[in-house]
Amino acid sequence: MAKKRPSTLTWLFDLDNTLHDASHAIFPAINANMNAYMAQVLGSAGVPADAATVDAARLAYWRRYGATLLGMVKHHQVREEDFLREAHRFDDLQKMIRAERGIGRMLRRLPGRKILLTNAPRRYAGEVLRHLGLQRHFAQHIAIEAMRVHGRLRPKPSKPLLRKIMARERIAAHRCVLVEDTVGTLKAAKTLGLRTVWITRYLASSSNFPGLAAPVQVNLIKRPVYVDVKVKSIGELSKNLRRLR
Ligand SMILES: [Mg+2]
Repeated sequence: MAKKRPSTLTWLFDLDNTLHDASHAIFPAINANMNAYMAQVLGSAGVPADAATVDAARLAYWRRYGATLLGMVKHHQVREEDFLREAHRFDDLQKMIRAERGIGRMLRRLPGRKILLTNAPRRYAGEVLRHLGLQRHFAQHIAIEAMRVHGRLRPKPSKPLLRKIMARERIAAHRCVLVEDTVGTLKAAKTLGLRTVWITRYLASSSNFPGLAAPVQVNLIKRPVYVDVKVKSIGELSKNLRRLR
């Protein structure tokens, strides 16, 4: 009997610390921006807004909700757009972007449709992709503003969000590959039956930014059970396609 030809894959790509090195200059700036904005919001409500309190709140919200933004909206009634704008103010973003050479070529070697799936705001994500010349590789950009389920903001690692994207794009979970540096999101995707790729290249540096990137809690030598392929960089992915089919 003829073997059924496998249908093509759909790829969901994270942006920060997956396609480029956000820890180099961008995360430090976002961290400082968030802290300044949170100090202002907390301070104006009469809450102590010293650095330690703000830092603790930022981390607590990130752990509890997966995004600091959600905690600030829920507990401090900030507007999403205000928070995102303030957190992503950069003097010269293009100068802050650092990525591997040939990343476009590496993406081209991966067969199938590619969708950008980032918890970052649309404007910032667009600027980073443009600077790296990667826009045309992605059929679609899903930024945080578009991560809504039943009207509520549900950024990664939300399972309802992933389910909604699968349904809308008519993707079977097992034909979909999530490429990410954040293990929590890979874990959520795996429970829904997606294939998972863990990019580890920027992990060591991202652990300096708890609240933006995953602190490295997982043993780096070992591949967690919810990770199908663990690679340092996107470039190594084309050699591992077999394990994603
Ligand atoms: Mg990331």
